[in-house]
Amino acid sequence: MRRKVAAGNWKMNGLKEALAEIEALKAINCKSCDVILCPPATLVSAMVTAAGDSGIIVGGQDCHWNETGAHTGDVSAEMLSDAGAGAVILGHSERRADHGETDAEVNSKTQAAWRAGLQSIVCVGETEMQRDDGETLVIIGGQLDGSTPEGATAENTIVAYEPVWAIGTGRTPTLDEVGEVHDYLRGKLVARFGEEIGNEMRLLYGGSVKPENAAEIFAVSNVDGGLVGGASLKAVDFASIVKAAS
Ligand code: PEP
Repeated sequence: MRRKVAAGNWKMNGLKEALAEIEALKAINCKSCDVILCPPATLVSAMVTAAGDSGIIVGGQDCHWNETGAHTGDVSAEMLSDAGAGAVILGHSERRADHGETDAEVNSKTQAAWRAGLQSIVCVGETEMQRDDGETLVIIGGQLDGSTPEGATAENTIVAYEPVWAIGTGRTPTLDEVGEVHDYLRGKLVARFGEEIGNEMRLLYGGSVKPENAAEIFAVSNVDGGLVGGASLKAVDFASIVKAAS
């Protein structure tokens, strides 16, 4: 039985005053799901303090593969951990597109996350053109293989399927299409990491998850929750999504 996950990605949004948003989430205290919130790096430490003993896991949105060094503007996994983070999103399509991140780099970052004791949320997803060309499974299969190191377990890794064309657009794949991809990813995880680990690893869907569609998406086979962008910024919306994961 896999615990569901409601993970929020605030992206480049949020000043200190936004931390008040998490009060409503603390009140939910989901016993049957994991709640992960990933604010900008500037808010990680303050959000950890605000979250207190609520059980909300605070995460980063990226990390460098090195522990320290001359990498202006970057944040290491150890720094996130030092700030109290317990997880980090890696290989988000916006980082792949905006910063040219490759599968090999995401793989190195994932190893860095594990080194620092962080749970990695490794993202894969096809563009609209790739879907239209019938390449969805080939693309996400390749991204999964390349971005996920040997040694992945259900404890250190969560995989998020995020079709690029569904992110922030209000469009989502049909439930059948979500199910097809998640079944495929499950099969790949089992083939690579074995029955036990492959069946225990959580697979999230991301891309325009909202309070209105969360429950039906989370009910699809092999969907173990969601990675949520826009709708995680407002506590009332994210709280509904957390409840759908409960
Ligand atoms: C995301 O960027 O991870 C995401 C899923 O965004 P949204 O929910 O806004 O589509």
